[in-house]
Amino acid sequence: MQTHTTPHATFGTTSGTPSKPPVTLLGLGDMGTALARSWLAAGHPLTVWNRTPAKAGPLVDEGARKTATAAGALESAAGPVILCLLDDASVGETLEAADLHGKDLINLTTSTPDQARRRARWAQERGARFLDGGIMAVPPMIGRPETGGYVLYSGDHALFERHRETLEVPAGARFVGADPGHAALHDVALLSAMTGMFAGLTHAFALVAPEKDLDRAGLATLLTEWLGAMAGAAHGMAAQLESGDYTEGVTSNLAMMTAANAALLATAQEQHVDPRLLAPYMELMSRRVAQGYGDEGSAGLVGLLGGE
Ligand code: NDP
Repeated sequence: MQTHTTPHATFGTTSGTPSKPPVTLLGLGDMGTALARSWLAAGHPLTVWNRTPAKAGPLVDEGARKTATAAGALESAAGPVILCLLDDASVGETLEAADLHGKDLINLTTSTPDQARRRARWAQERGARFLDGGIMAVPPMIGRPETGGYVLYSGDHALFERHRETLEVPAGARFVGADPGHAALHDVALLSAMTGMFAGLTHAFALVAPEKDLDRAGLATLLTEWLGAMAGAAHGMAAQLESGDYTEGVTSNLAMMTAANAALLATAQEQHVDPRLLAPYMELMSRRVAQGYGDEGSAGLVGLLGGE
């Protein structure tokens, strides 16, 4: 075990080779442990703390230093302090007794946008700089850039730039705005869109369930290609929502798509599939057409959900 008693210098060693900035990491669950290993592998001096101390053992064997308390970890931190805890409440609990003054907090704990904004204010009132992050990766993707994992960041841009190189060690780093809630908002927007995609895949595989001789792997290939091609529609929707003209560039309008829904529903009935995953979206489409907007694309449906 290393026995540092003073904060690490950010740069410079006696050998003249620039050393990597030190990292302090609170939280050694599956994700925290993966992050820890990536910084250790890249040569960053690493200080760790976890509520259940035993989880730090293997990392100490690999070169990390552990502290007995979260406050102790903060006290010795001379670089970014990364939080990777279960939820926002555990962040509050963990930092309650710590002196945050002058510290650079980077919170990778999943939060809602409002929780992130409140946590940013809370940290600033205690003299810390604050950046929020949303991890778009699972632990096996951490430290493996080829897997395409990344973390969304928002809040203090100068803080992001100061630690950018260190933050890019475990996964790509993408800054999405000065509002500390925007990383969480982007994170949830992506996960919500993914939920819709999984609903679609579930319905698609239910449709073919009765067909015992159908090649499911072949269907999976077709689905992957089709969804990939269709995902580009996000750009068209964004452009229409920006301009306010929901007919701009429309190639498949709502009237046509609503008529085609009849075939989707009739096929579900033929295959004895409950259409519950499609029905709410189709109801929105029909409502917009009934309002007289059949020549539009999908952007007009956004307003029907509220949120403005
Ligand atoms: P785990 O459940 O594996 O670990 C949770 C961590 O939080 C542990 O270190 C646990 O400590 C700690 N913790 C829980 N409650 C408290 C508390 N009250 N006080 C102090 N510490 C507490 O979760 P992950 O490591 O997988 O996830 C961490 C964060 O990363 C979460 O916010 C998660 O949403 C996010 N994330 C995770 C992904 C994943 O695939 N795993 C993907 C993207 C984001 P102890 O060991 O003592 O229980």
